[in-house]
Amino acid sequence: MIKALLTDAQLKLRDEARAFVREDVPRQLILDMDAGKVTYPREYLERAAARNLLGLRFPVEYGGRGLKWEDEIIALEEVGVLGTSLACLYSLPSIVGEAINVFGTAEQKERWLHPVLQGKLTVAEALTEPRGGSDFFGTTTTARREGDAYILNGQKRFIVGAEGADYFIVYARTNPDAKPHQAISLFVVERGPGVEVQHVYGLMGTRGGGTGRVYFRDARVPAFNLIGRENGASDIFYQMMIPERMTSAAGALGMARAALEIAMRYSDRRKAFGQKIRMFEGVSFKVAECITQLDAASALVYATARAIDDLGRSPKSGDDPNRVRRMVSESKKFATDMAWQVVNHAMQIMGGIGYTSVYPIERLLRDVRLITIWTGTNEIMDLVIQHEYYKELGAQPIGRDVEADAPDAGVDGEKVYE
Ligand SMILES: Cc1cc2nc3c(=O)[nH]c(=O)nc-3n(C[C@H](O)[C@H](O)[C@H](O)COP(=O)(O)OP(=O)(O)OC[C@H]3O[C@@H](n4cnc5c(N)ncnc54)[C@H](O)[C@@H]3O)c2cc1C
Repeated sequence: MIKALLTDAQLKLRDEARAFVREDVPRQLILDMDAGKVTYPREYLERAAARNLLGLRFPVEYGGRGLKWEDEIIALEEVGVLGTSLACLYSLPSIVGEAINVFGTAEQKERWLHPVLQGKLTVAEALTEPRGGSDFFGTTTTARREGDAYILNGQKRFIVGAEGADYFIVYARTNPDAKPHQAISLFVVERGPGVEVQHVYGLMGTRGGGTGRVYFRDARVPAFNLIGRENGASDIFYQMMIPERMTSAAGALGMARAALEIAMRYSDRRKAFGQKIRMFEGVSFKVAECITQLDAASALVYATARAIDDLGRSPKSGDDPNRVRRMVSESKKFATDMAWQVVNHAMQIMGGIGYTSVYPIERLLRDVRLITIWTGTNEIMDLVIQHEYYKELGAQPIGRDVEADAPDAGVDGEKVYE
């Protein structure tokens, strides 16, 4: 994060997050997770909670700190250096918590948000189905009302934390006849009868975070567990996409920074042809490219965080929600593409040793490959970005009509569009 943008309180928060990452996360945990020896690192979340570092944006009464997005991205970047599994598990209370905090009742917040932020309960977010993740509104998991409960049937896959979660947040179709955006509801589904988790994947990276497949077979979910309105989950989905994508974007900054630092230190010591490799343009220009991209991504993520924080202000000063949605997607796309490139360059700078387990670059590379795919692929981000910008553009130019500044701008019959 760019230091000039941070207040003293934010610098203190950054140092708190750094202390957690440095002191509370044993090296062995990271190695064991990557080796598949850990199913779910529950203690890690308990330690983050003990430092009051989970769900920083949420109200103090529910265990948060009542901070803003501007603050949360600072902690997310620091946790990002741990790799995708631990960063994702750290982010889940923020993602799932958004739905409960914004759309849940006080009773629901007390029951499901507060204990998560205290490290007493763990969560997972179950959106993706075997039939596809991008086409979210095509969800085929169903929930049928039966008395004071709903009966859930369906499957979700690739769910981080599934193996250790005490509850899942699950979108299901509650109206088979309605249009997709008016057919889906959101539920808290506690682990219990009718809910089965299977460990089925060999993952390239992002290991040890309990990623699994979740089956719902006539799972009985009390009506109390419905978040928001029945058939009204599209609003919740769009709201949740803010933390979903901002957590990926901010975590990417940390991963890229970590890899780049290792490669830069290496390049300042390693010699070839009698001189340090950083003296070769092929190396130092890569470093320059990486650090420029990293700073650009930091600035975009920070500006987006401010725009989100600004949403609640008066209509005049508050930003337009559609523009913010675009910026959130830009942040996710730009920061994750940047991280992939930076980690890849870091490996190239390290030469052969970067490809081995002597340095963690190979693990970071395996991890970072995922982040352009999850929380909405970067192609889906492109869809959102261009869609929102076309809407924003409008028929009239903003400010000066530059189109008219051409010698033949007014010639009859030349501006033909069909
Ligand atoms: C390790 C791991 C952890 C994950 N964690 C979670 C989790 O915790 N919770 C959760 O719910 N999900 C999770 N996911 C799922 C992830 O979000 C999805 O994989 C992702 O959204 C893409 O969905 P898909 O795999 O079904 O691909 P598809 O939707 O089938 O897409 C396949 C390809 O088609 C492209 N495509 C699809 N539609 C369009 C379009 N309209 N325009 C252009 N291109 C398009 C995509 O960009 C992609 O390249 C995880 C995935 C992995 C691998």
